[in-house]
Amino acid sequence: MNDTDQSNNVDALLAKFGFDSTHCFIGGVWQAPLDGETLQLLNPSTAENLCAIARGKPSDIDAAVAAAQTAMQTGWGRATALQRGRLLMRLGQLVLDHVEELAQLEALDVGKPLKQARADAIALARYCEFYAGAADKIHGETLPYLEGYTAYTLREPHGITGHIVPWNYPMQIIGRSVGAALAMGNACVLKPAEEACLTALAFAELASQAGLPAGALNVVPGLGAEAGSALSSHPGINHISFTGSVATGTLVQSAASASVVPVTLELGGKSAQVVFDDADLDAALPFLVNAGIQNAGQTCSASSRLLIQRGVYQALLERLVDRYSQLQVGNALADLDVGPLISAKQKDIVSSYIDRGNDLEKVAMGELHEGAGNGHFVLPTLFAGVPSDHVLAQEEIFGPVQVVIPFDDEDEALAIANGTPYGLVASVWTNSGARQFRMAKALRAGQVFINNYGAGGGVELPFGGVGKSGHGREKGFEALYGFSTLKTVAVSHG
Ligand code: NAD
Repeated sequence: MNDTDQSNNVDALLAKFGFDSTHCFIGGVWQAPLDGETLQLLNPSTAENLCAIARGKPSDIDAAVAAAQTAMQTGWGRATALQRGRLLMRLGQLVLDHVEELAQLEALDVGKPLKQARADAIALARYCEFYAGAADKIHGETLPYLEGYTAYTLREPHGITGHIVPWNYPMQIIGRSVGAALAMGNACVLKPAEEACLTALAFAELASQAGLPAGALNVVPGLGAEAGSALSSHPGINHISFTGSVATGTLVQSAASASVVPVTLELGGKSAQVVFDDADLDAALPFLVNAGIQNAGQTCSASSRLLIQRGVYQALLERLVDRYSQLQVGNALADLDVGPLISAKQKDIVSSYIDRGNDLEKVAMGELHEGAGNGHFVLPTLFAGVPSDHVLAQEEIFGPVQVVIPFDDEDEALAIANGTPYGLVASVWTNSGARQFRMAKALRAGQVFINNYGAGGGVELPFGGVGKSGHGREKGFEALYGFSTLKTVAVSHG
């Protein structure tokens, strides 16, 4: 079978889930957008039409917010923590029952190789399970106060939460934000990305099958400047969770500020892995490459910078080159190392960055698989000996491009690692225990991994950035604080 034979599977997959991709999910019902317009999704592996989706407009966002408000005043707003947990557990099980279909939808829609899409579907189930278990374990506290008083705190939902997600990891990002918001008892309005939204719709269908009350989760696909902008400026929203670019994040934050709505921003990154001379290079090697090329480098926490101490620089570089040269690029359904980029536009952006590296030493590239077709493919590219202030070492490329930067000592490694406007993830490879602690403390990042690297991985681990990588934390138990507000009660009883 050639790489593209399965690419028209989408109709069969949608039929299995039983929803119409041109509809929004509002108030527990699939319905066409009010003015009936649609957008066209493309399959990134073939650059051919995939299917049409709804072009939600501000009026559809109004309807979704109204449905969420009704849900908060009726069934969903009265659900106990135990009931919410059980619903999420059922939803997690339904996701697990549909891992294969979800993975295929995501592979067709996002272009990620099937094994990565499968891992994302399993992560979505895991978020449901984690937040199912957490729903009835988060609580307020009693507070020592004046004689004759009892004081305590209540942890309450914000009310209506807006979720604006990008195209690169729809299932994981929906799992971590919608999962935590539902566990806390919020009603959600989700605006998936216009480039890829099929698994968001499938998730809504599964939520409905799990018994989630009408209006607790509403999904309105559409353009950022239309549906996204309407959601972030909507006066009926009580919290916004945004994942995407820095440029859009600042727009969302200022739109929400008009209604004094709190915002969580999960933005970009330029994450570094720092390899010292005493590191276990065998253990490091797969992490160094995979964390850069996973999802074709379209990962906020991709490790796009590899800092290598001079004592092992040459030997490790040779091994990196060897690994890079074996990377196979092709159709997502062929399940190779690297799939296509999401769009022709993203391919142009990444290709122009590679061109801007013409003054650098390009030491290795991956290979296009036979029969790859006409998708938005960019070969993984490794640059070595890169000055830390070069544009390729400073800006987020969001493609399968890594730069290797040599360093002499710990101080220099820290200065380079911390020397970008971002601070999402970092890792350190060293066998020196003291250095592990020093580096973990000094690195400016929301997550630091020692002798491993989790590109956003770990459902249990709080995740988020500093600097231009954003603010607020999702994932883990910490997310439940973000998706709730605290009320203090003081009772005078004499
Ligand atoms: P983007 O900002 O263009 O789009 C993200 C979402 O915002 C989409 O749903 C889009 O429709 C919506 N949007 C666009 N304009 C809007 C507006 N004016 N108002 C409201 N919403 C609007 O980002 P992208 O290019 O799709 O995604 C890539 C970026 O996302 C990268 O910078 C990447 O680092 C970042 N990202 C961050 C994380 C994280 O967790 N930190 C995860 C994934 C991606």
